[in-house]
Amino acid sequence: MNRRLFIEKVSRGALGVSVAGCLPGERAGLAAVPAVRAAPVKNWTWTDGGEKLKPDQQKRRFEEFRKAGINAVLFSSYNAEVLARAKEQGLETHAWTWSLCRGDKELLEKHPDWYDVSRRGDSASNKPPYVDYYHFLCPSRVEVREHLAKIVAGLGDTENLDGIHLDYIRYPDVILPVALWKKYNLVQNEELPQFDFCYCEVCCKAFKDQTGEDPLQLPDPPSHAAWRQYRYDSVTKLVNHLVEVAHGKRKQITAAVFPTPSIAQKLVRQDWVRWNLDAVLPMVYHSFYNEKPEWIKRAVNEGVSALPKNRPLYAGLYLPDLQGKDFDRAVEFAMAGGAKGVSLFGGVRPIKEG
Ligand SMILES: [Zn+2]
Repeated sequence: MNRRLFIEKVSRGALGVSVAGCLPGERAGLAAVPAVRAAPVKNWTWTDGGEKLKPDQQKRRFEEFRKAGINAVLFSSYNAEVLARAKEQGLETHAWTWSLCRGDKELLEKHPDWYDVSRRGDSASNKPPYVDYYHFLCPSRVEVREHLAKIVAGLGDTENLDGIHLDYIRYPDVILPVALWKKYNLVQNEELPQFDFCYCEVCCKAFKDQTGEDPLQLPDPPSHAAWRQYRYDSVTKLVNHLVEVAHGKRKQITAAVFPTPSIAQKLVRQDWVRWNLDAVLPMVYHSFYNEKPEWIKRAVNEGVSALPKNRPLYAGLYLPDLQGKDFDRAVEFAMAGGAKGVSLFGGVRPIKEG
């Protein structure tokens, strides 16, 4: 799909369903439903800042986002100029922020002890699992929490920035999405020790203080419910602290999460229904789970049903695997599942022409 065609599709898809999807109570004709209007539809895109574009090109890009039905942009990079131009075009601006996966040279050199340790005893600082950038920090460490809080507070002071968007706010995948097993030549029907985190001193001590048991001495750590819960809680506490910091700066805070509450817990130990965010953006990337676009509706609905009623869910769609009509259908499935909009990954790019 070329870019222009894609933008037309977004426009038709996202805006087309917004009319039907935003007022479920009225549409169903339920007289008893209180006349509370659902949150308005909001569509997002993950993209770069396009800092090298000339001002008129940047203006055109943001105008096209708006025309395509995009309301909010999650920037992987930006400068003051980018944010100001996006605001001028009426777009919300969010800082797309890698959270626990941080391979900053300075951190790796000065604080290797801040990183996750696997059940096999390897540190993600020098032996990251799967890929060389998988340097995940341990969410249980006070120093890590303070470090990330400082980053969020700094973003909170940024002019023309509406929100902070957390990505990689989780443990490394203890189990990869099934479609990726082949790529890494793995069979992960169980939690393998080299991918199971975090068994650092801080985590082991905290769990022992809490329960009297050392995680490394458990006969079968993966089957131990309290140990799994400890790790869900560790990320949840961190997120909820970052929410307080962002709200203290009057900024929105959202996160990219795994597709459903159950998959998120199982694969990366995210218990995101308990995160006090302003919204969640689950990556309902059907192809990663060998599913068809129809699955998006079920996945979205599982999340919406588990979340507090007033917390919007925006369905993250993986555009490279949504060719032709599948894109329109994916948007419809997301809205039918109860999403308040979609967030697009891998499709909207800066204008390349000179
Ligand atoms: Zn740890």
